[in-house]
Amino acid sequence: MSAATTTPVEPSEVPAAVPTHLRHFIDGRHVDSLDGATFEVCAPASNLPYATAAAGKAADVDAAVTAARRAFTEGPWPGMQPKDRAGVLNRIADEVERRDARLAELETFDTGLPITQALGQAQRAAENFRFFADLIVGQTDEAYKVPGRQLNYVNRRPVGVAGLITPWNTPFMLESWKLAPALAAGCTVVLKPAEFTPLSASLWAEIFAAADLPRGVFNLVGGIGEEAGAALVEHPDVPLISFTGETTTGRTIFASAARHLKGLSMELGGKSPVIVFADADLDAAIDAALFGVFSLNGERCTAGSRILVERGVYAEFVERFAARAKRIVVGPPQDPATEVGALVHPEHYERVLAYVELGRREGRLVAGGGRPAHLPTGNYLEPTVFCDVPADARIFQEEIFGPVVALTPFEDEADAVALANSVTYGLAGYVWTNDLRRAHRVAQSVESGMVWINSHNVRDLRTPFGGIKASGLGHEGGYRSIDFYTSQQAVHVALQTLPTARFGTR
Ligand code: NAD
Repeated sequence: MSAATTTPVEPSEVPAAVPTHLRHFIDGRHVDSLDGATFEVCAPASNLPYATAAAGKAADVDAAVTAARRAFTEGPWPGMQPKDRAGVLNRIADEVERRDARLAELETFDTGLPITQALGQAQRAAENFRFFADLIVGQTDEAYKVPGRQLNYVNRRPVGVAGLITPWNTPFMLESWKLAPALAAGCTVVLKPAEFTPLSASLWAEIFAAADLPRGVFNLVGGIGEEAGAALVEHPDVPLISFTGETTTGRTIFASAARHLKGLSMELGGKSPVIVFADADLDAAIDAALFGVFSLNGERCTAGSRILVERGVYAEFVERFAARAKRIVVGPPQDPATEVGALVHPEHYERVLAYVELGRREGRLVAGGGRPAHLPTGNYLEPTVFCDVPADARIFQEEIFGPVVALTPFEDEADAVALANSVTYGLAGYVWTNDLRRAHRVAQSVESGMVWINSHNVRDLRTPFGGIKASGLGHEGGYRSIDFYTSQQAVHVALQTLPTARFGTR
């Protein structure tokens, strides 16, 4: 089974002027680690190293937190008028948009994401900044009046230095997803981007400088999770951590943060179900299900990686889905014809391949299953489809985070819901049916933070984003993000002398 081919593009092609050394950005300056430590960064299409990056440790994190703390206590940022902060955020969005093509080129080179999909990520990143700029200008806070006696109101304040820890899938967009609300709320930040994909993050410093973000508000420390990330979580002057990554890492961070009682927002892994009833628009469901699991190379937290199909249309669905999966264009990430590119890193590639081998025993392989013949090097995998996968199979239960999907038949609505909910994760869900009542009934029964009816993941930035069960803790999105990055102080004002029991008068 070979995937469709593309016009050959040299997989080891390096974009012009790619930096060969990436440094931290602390207090407005690019700096190396205090101990000089570095690590190597590879491009997924070739697995050849193209740069070294500064490997931050506790001392570097401490320098970044100190700068961010100073910018918070002494700088103008937290106290600026919302309209002025919004002005900076809008300028950041302009600068991101201006670098759209460059960003996409770097992201594609560093992550293996197809170039057409990387372009969308830059647009989305800009949109995040515009959205939160609008939100803070229009923001109001509650007042509670007790007529004639008391006025109570909410005084919202930025929490302080926010620690932002991000993963390697769509890195720039996910960084913007945290940077935009944290900065909008008036926090200063220390960002620790993923070590597999540090390249696009290196553009933030110039973007923020061009938008006149005050010095010290944004700091970046690169490095290994267990060193730089852990040091950020452990730092006593970082009162809150927003983390996106694997569930196991989330558990470690939760335990470390407990010592300091830090605020935590956790966006973790997923194994989201797509539930297709026999009455659904199968053409639309197949299009969306294919896109939902194979876009972004399947390295997507909300991927619909378990497709549950009602028995009556199961055979037809499997046949049509597998036929389309075989025709998906796997190729060099920078080729505009490519639909699935290279997986991010050889370690991750090996992990995904191990699941493919497991799948051969647990289900029936109907598409893909190996390296495309025309791509002998790099982390390429054919879109892989297993059908007849039982609910206790590991490929049904565990997040694979690659272009691999499990298809399973169901008998009726109750069976569909039971199968959907039979995993530890609860991030997203997708329901396909033309029965209005059943659509809502099933959607509301799926144990997930988000669910889409007759659609793939099309998000409204105002809605809550987050998972339940092993998929996360807390919800961001819209005002919820601002809530996370601010504290709400209740101010109670007496409008007359309130009755007081007089102690010490007897
Ligand atoms: P990961 O957990 O390995 O790493 C994420 C980040 O945490 C990296 O920056 C890493 O350096 C850092 N880190 C690792 N160990 C740490 C530690 N002990 N202390 C502090 N920081 C540490 O995740 P990944 O492999 O980069 O990303 C893929 C995962 O992210 C998948 O599970 C995916 O589902 C999840 N994800 C979730 C969402 C969501 O919104 N729910 C979005 C995107 C990705």
